[in-house]
Amino acid sequence: MAPRFFQNVIALVYDFDGTLSPQPMQEYTVLPKIGVDPPAFWAQVNREARETQSDPMLVYMRHILEALERAQVDVKRKDFERMARAIKYFPGVEGWFTRMNAYVAKKSGGGVKLQHYLISAGQREILDGASIRKHFKQIYASEYHFNHHGIATFPKILVTDTMKTQFLFRINKGKESITESINEHMDEAERPIPFQNMVYVGDGMTDVPSMALTKKSGGHTVAVYDRRSSKGKATCVKLMHAGRADFIAEADYRRGSKLSKRVELLLDAIVADVAYRREAHAVRRENQPR
Ligand SMILES: [Mg+2]
Repeated sequence: MAPRFFQNVIALVYDFDGTLSPQPMQEYTVLPKIGVDPPAFWAQVNREARETQSDPMLVYMRHILEALERAQVDVKRKDFERMARAIKYFPGVEGWFTRMNAYVAKKSGGGVKLQHYLISAGQREILDGASIRKHFKQIYASEYHFNHHGIATFPKILVTDTMKTQFLFRINKGKESITESINEHMDEAERPIPFQNMVYVGDGMTDVPSMALTKKSGGHTVAVYDRRSSKGKATCVKLMHAGRADFIAEADYRRGSKLSKRVELLLDAIVADVAYRREAHAVRRENQPR
C-alpha cells in the first residue's frame, strides 16, 4: 500500500477543432495562406482518402505540403506558430482555464489540482502558437518532420480518432512522453490520474473512441456544440443517448453558462470522490493488519 495518497490530480482533456474553436484550425491558418477554399479542400481530401483507401489525416498532411510547394511558399515551424494568432475561440475559452483551476482549488481547499490536456488530430505546430497554449500540461497532435532547411517534409506523428485513446492512457499512467512504453501492466492504485479523475470534452463522432474509453473506465465526458449548428447539436444528443456523453451543452465557456455549470458539477463530484478515497486510504493505513 502506498504510504501517501497521491491520486489528487484531475485532468480536463479537450479535443480542439469544434470543441474549443468553431472551425478546424487549418481554416484560420494554413488554408488561407495557400489560398484554397476550405470546403473544396476537405472534399478533395476526403474523396482521395476514400478512393485510395488512405487515412484522411495523412492525405491532408500531404495535400498541405503539395499546395505549399505549388504556391512556392516556405512554411517553417515559426510560420505555423505565427499563423495560430488568427484562431478564433468559442466565448469564454481564454479565461476558462484559470477560472476552473481556481474553482477546484477553492472547492478542495487546495487538496486537489486541476491539469489541462489537449488531444487533437490537428497540427501540433499550429497549436504551439495558440494563445491558450500555456494552459496545457501537454499537447498531443499530428506533427511534421522539418528538414535541415527547416521546411516540413513528412509526417512525424499522426493522431487519428482511435489513436487519441493512447494519449488518455499516457495521462492515466503518467507516461506522458511518447517515447515511454505504456504497455506494461500498472495497478490501478499506482496510476497518477485514474480515469475517475478525468473529464473528456469533445464535440463529435471523431471523439467516440476517446469518450467510449473514458466512460467505460469510470471517467466523465461532455459533448459541446456550436450554437449556430443544428447538426452539431443533433450529434451531441446522439452521443448522450448512446451513453458516450454524460452531459451536452452549447460551447460557451463563460462563467454561469450551462457548460460551465455542468463541468463544475462534474468537478464537485470528483473532488468529493477524491476526498472519500483519501480518507479510505488513511483509515486502511492506520489499521493495517499486523
Ligand atoms: Mg472536434
